[in-house]
Amino acid sequence: DRLISANLMMEDQVVELSLRPRYLAEYIGQTQVKENLKVYIEAAKMRKEALDHVLLYGPPGLGKTTLSNIIANELGVNIRVTSGPAIERPGDLAAILTNLQEGDVLFIDEIHRLQRTVEEVLYPAMEDFALDIMIGKGPSARSVRLDLPAFTLIGATTRAGLLSSPLRDRFGVVSRLEYYTIDELTFIVTRASEILQVPIVGEAAHEIGMRSRGTPRIANRILKRVRDYAQVRGDGVITLELAKSALQLLQIDDLGLDQIDHKMIRTIITNFQGGPVGLDTIAATIGEESQTIEDVYEPFLLQIGFLQRTPRGRTVTPLAYKHLGMQPPEPK
Ligand code: ADP
Repeated sequence: DRLISANLMMEDQVVELSLRPRYLAEYIGQTQVKENLKVYIEAAKMRKEALDHVLLYGPPGLGKTTLSNIIANELGVNIRVTSGPAIERPGDLAAILTNLQEGDVLFIDEIHRLQRTVEEVLYPAMEDFALDIMIGKGPSARSVRLDLPAFTLIGATTRAGLLSSPLRDRFGVVSRLEYYTIDELTFIVTRASEILQVPIVGEAAHEIGMRSRGTPRIANRILKRVRDYAQVRGDGVITLELAKSALQLLQIDDLGLDQIDHKMIRTIITNFQGGPVGLDTIAATIGEESQTIEDVYEPFLLQIGFLQRTPRGRTVTPLAYKHLGMQPPEPK
C-alpha cells in the first residue's frame, strides 16, 4: 500500500482512465519531447506513412503509457497494448503482429523484459515489416517471409540501458521523459481535482505538487488520499492545512521522500560512513529489491542531489545529511 511504487494499484487503473490526457495539447510538460513528436506525427500523416518506431524511457509514472495513447490518438490509428513479460513465445508476438492494421501503434511496456527469441521476431518486423516463419523441422525446414502492415512500435522502459543494442538501434525516435517541475505538477493536480470534482485551494495543489517527486502518477495518488482525508476530517475542501496533515499521516516529507528513502539514506550514513557502497548491499541491508531501488528510489535521489553515483558505489551528499538533521563529515 505504498504511494511510491512502480506497480499499478487498483485505484490507479480506475481513476487513470479519467485523468489520462488524450491529446498532446492536454499533456503537461515534457516540452521538448512533445515538440519533436508533434513534427514527426504531422510529417507521417502528410506522407500517409506509419510513424517511425518510438522508444520512451524514464522512471515509472512519468507518462510513457499516456503519451503512447496520445500518439495513436493524434495519428488517428488503433493502439494495441501489451508488455514484455506478457509475450511469452515468438508465436504470441507473431499473432499480435499479424492482427495489426496499416498504420496501427503497437505499445510494448517494459520492453527490456522481452525474451531473446521474441525479440528476434521483432527485428525484421520493425525493419522490413516482415515476419519470418519456419516451416517444417530438420533438413527440410525452410523459412517463409510474410508481409506485415506498416505499423509503429512504441516501446517503454525505465532505463534505455537495459535494452539490447540491436533492439535499441531499430528505434528511429528515442525520447527520455524527465521529472516534472513543481509548477507542472501543481497544474496536473489542479486539473485532476477539477476532473474528480474535489475543491482544492491553490496553495494545497502546490504543496502536493512539491511533494510528488516529480511524478504525475504520485501526484494523482496523493490527491486521492488527501481527498479522502478532507472528506472525513474537513468539509471536503482541500485546504493547505488539511493537505499538510494528510501528507504527514502518509509519512511523506517536504521533498516527497518516504520512509524507504529515509531508511536508505540513513543506512548508507550509519552503516557505511556515507558510502561508497554498492546498490545490492544497500538493498540487502534495508530489505528492498535492488531493481525497485534502482528504478524508483535512486533516480529521484540522484536528481535532487542527495545521492551520487561513483564507480565504487553510491555516496550520500552533505545535502542529504542536512535534510535528515545530521552533521555531514568534514571534507578530507
Ligand atoms: P508510465 O507509463 O510512464 O509509468 P503513465 O503514462 O501510466 O506512466 O502515467 C501515470 C499517470 O500520470 C497517468 O494516468 C496520467 O493521469 C498522469 N500523467 C502522466 N503524464 C501526464 C502529463 N504529462 N500530464 C498530465 N497527466 C499526466
